[in-house]
Amino acid sequence: TADPGAGLVAIALEASGSDGLSRSSGLPDTLFVHEGQITKRPMRALALSALGPKPGERLWDIGAGSGSISVEWALCGGTAIAVEARADRAANIRSNTAAFGLTHRIRVVEGTAPDILSGLERPQAAFMGGGLDAAMFDAVWSLIGPGTRIVAHAVTLETEALLSDLHQRHGGELMRVEIAYAGGLGRYRSWEAARPVVQWSVVR
Ligand code: SAH
Repeated sequence: TADPGAGLVAIALEASGSDGLSRSSGLPDTLFVHEGQITKRPMRALALSALGPKPGERLWDIGAGSGSISVEWALCGGTAIAVEARADRAANIRSNTAAFGLTHRIRVVEGTAPDILSGLERPQAAFMGGGLDAAMFDAVWSLIGPGTRIVAHAVTLETEALLSDLHQRHGGELMRVEIAYAGGLGRYRSWEAARPVVQWSVVR
């Protein structure tokens, strides 16, 4: 197809000595243009697993950042609407979408949720990765239909408290993920803990 940028990911993969794109979600962070705010590979894999993409389904990726969640959703055969408030990040999403050859499956909507959401086609699943507060949740909850899957990630105590409250009210699964990477400690190695992430998944 005529996607500008299509094939760039293939070139990056070849440069890294890999001979193809993995079928599994949780692709390397280095395949995405981002500024550090990206949902990192292990948490992205857990997000996609909880979102449960099926071919033909539509995702709302709210606070899409680099668009990595939308890209991995679309690679599973669905379509995504990537909503991002910042113009520079919306540009990153467009680059990543093009690099993966997915411009026909991902629509980038530059604007602020929840206001921008009301005009969008309703989704089968929604990922809340940015700007999540009680007002945002209430707006999304009232816009989406019954049966819609919601997955939200929290890194701050404030958002974590909100997810704890929402879990009590609406049920679903609340999960805390603590990841540590082995790093150098003098002549030895030690675990370097990443910030814990709390994931809440629920069906509307
Ligand atoms: N999942 C993304 C990372 C998201 S970071 C990835 O993998 O790249 C959170 C993003 O939400 C930021 O880019 C921020 O600009 C955006 N954001 C925060 N509040 C928002 C709002 N109300 N509407 C739209 N985007 C918002």
